[in-house]
Amino acid sequence: ATSLPRPSERRIITVANQKGGVGKTTTTVNLAAALAVQGLTVLVVDLDPQGNASTALGVPHYSGVASSYEVLLGEVKAADAVQQSPHSERLFCIPATIDLAGAEIELVSMVARENRLKNALTVAALGDRDYDYIIIDCPPSLGLLTVNALVAAKEVLIPIQCEYYALEGVGQLLRNIELVQSHLNPELHVSTVLLTMYDGRTKLADQVAAEVRSHFGDAVLRSVIPRSVKVSEAPGYGMTVLDYDPGSRGAMSYLDAGRELAARGHHKNQGNE
Ligand code: ADP
Ligand code: MG
Repeated sequence: ATSLPRPSERRIITVANQKGGVGKTTTTVNLAAALAVQGLTVLVVDLDPQGNASTALGVPHYSGVASSYEVLLGEVKAADAVQQSPHSERLFCIPATIDLAGAEIELVSMVARENRLKNALTVAALGDRDYDYIIIDCPPSLGLLTVNALVAAKEVLIPIQCEYYALEGVGQLLRNIELVQSHLNPELHVSTVLLTMYDGRTKLADQVAAEVRSHFGDAVLRSVIPRSVKVSEAPGYGMTVLDYDPGSRGAMSYLDAGRELAARGHHKNQGNE
């Protein structure tokens, strides 16, 4: 496999969109796998109580496993909750268990409730492993878990499904990002938009793609993720599509998206921003 440029500093990317079913989790795990297979070391933080990212990465996440819940609460050091994905030497995950479902409410009364993930993901708390990327998978809401992810990251990646009402709710997400930016995390920005579940046979998909590109401009990756049965089957085997069917169009498109993402980060670090 080719190897991608390492970013000059660790990139932390939050994958957010409060709409469910748009491809947040699928994008998180497959992009992470695409970066890892091309030589980078990647940590996925599963912040959705459903634990779908943990499942897709083949990482146990039954109640009782050290998880993002204990990390947020400060009960477990991040490094002690990290598990290696069985399919890759460079892909790691802090899983989510169902315990996280209560965190949204438990966090409300906590000190520095919006900063807990950020404080938990310091270089020291992550231990010796040199992660190039940390990718955070959010639940489908704009509650405290998502706010924690937005405070912990510098970049937001918004997956947008090429379907009716694709941009519905995106305005609200952007307003929340602005709020976090102005009050909690001035460096936060939408660095990346990825079009998912693209069906080239439909006019609608092209219309949505054009609308998203005119709205977000250069943030939109040129790579587009096609709708593909392989992509949707892979998590059922505890795999990313890169392991499940490496030659498939879905795998290829995530590899392309990973290359683009890495190239952009590299570019930026060379002084274009
Ligand atoms: P979210 O995390 O935003 O709720 P998911 O990533 O779980 O969304 O995706 C929702 C559903 O769509 C899942 O069943 C997933 O397998 C499926 N899916 C996601 N991306 C694709 C794709 N490119 N092709 C086919 N199915 C997809
Ligand atoms: Mg999800």
